[in-house]
Amino acid sequence: MKAFDKCPVCGGELIEKEVEKLLRGGDNFATMKVRADVCSHCGERLYSRKTIHLFETIQTKLEKRETSEFKPLGQSFLVQN
Ligand SMILES: [Zn+2]
Repeated sequence: MKAFDKCPVCGGELIEKEVEKLLRGGDNFATMKVRADVCSHCGERLYSRKTIHLFETIQTKLEKRETSEFKPLGQSFLVQN
């Protein structure tokens, strides 16, 4: 059961796709691939409640630096100018 039939922003058609989501918790970032309904018109992404809950869990872990189960993926740098 989908939450939306059409895009709630523009009314465009939603297509289920695998997308890459960037998550941030504190100074830490993680990316993950998830299924989302993506609007073919404006690009709005809609996630299921289960997926949103998963994002929140990961963000909390990032914030607490509980990242041992995540695979390292390069480093982040802060450029000061
Ligand atoms: Zn849209």
